[in-house]
Amino acid sequence: MLKITPILCRPHEMDNYAYLLQDLETGASAILDASEAEPVVAECEKQNIKPDFLLVTHHHFDHVEGNLALKEKYGAKIVGAKADAERIAEIDITLCDGDEFFLGKAKAKIISADGHTIGHILWYFPEEKALFTGDTLFNLCIGGLFEGTIEQMWHSLQKIKELPDDVLFYPGHEYTIYGVRSLCGETGEKYRQKALSRLQKGLPAGPMTLGEEKICNPYLQAESLEEFAQLMG
Ligand code: ZN
Ligand code: FE
Repeated sequence: MLKITPILCRPHEMDNYAYLLQDLETGASAILDASEAEPVVAECEKQNIKPDFLLVTHHHFDHVEGNLALKEKYGAKIVGAKADAERIAEIDITLCDGDEFFLGKAKAKIISADGHTIGHILWYFPEEKALFTGDTLFNLCIGGLFEGTIEQMWHSLQKIKELPDDVLFYPGHEYTIYGVRSLCGETGEKYRQKALSRLQKGLPAGPMTLGEEKICNPYLQAESLEEFAQLMG
């Protein structure tokens, strides 16, 4: 079983999430998207954990800037996309679309998701029903196109839409609040209440299920590339 602890980084600025992952069966642990070292170290000390791996969704500074300090402190190995190997400093293990990575006994499947960047990957733990989406999918919105095309992003989102509805997804930033006002319908109302009550307690709005997201996120609602392109303006 995978225990997942979100760690808010760069609060009130970029509101990144790093995630502490622990395979409870073996004790193996990792930090996914170590945005900055300080809050990650604080959480690791609180839980008495020395992470074995530093997992990366994409090369942007706000997803990797803690890596080198954490690598030095814990001797953790940096794991990211082969396509990003030149842009992720001191990367140790590179993975391609469809590859599997084991955190202890917890199996992750790598899903390539070009769009926000070229080389962006999703970390999918099918048995754990957990998906880490980096800057591809946020609650109620998606990441901007820094390197990829509208078609590539559309393609990446279709891959997410094909995953089961009961998978929980964990985004790279806390941006939920920007989309809650435009929610409508019964599922939208439930989504809004869940998100706002968690945010008011200082917690992440998520994780939401992909099922909820497929209904509430306008970018997942688009039924054709043309419709999606219109939405992207
Ligand atoms: Zn990014
Ligand atoms: Fe980011």
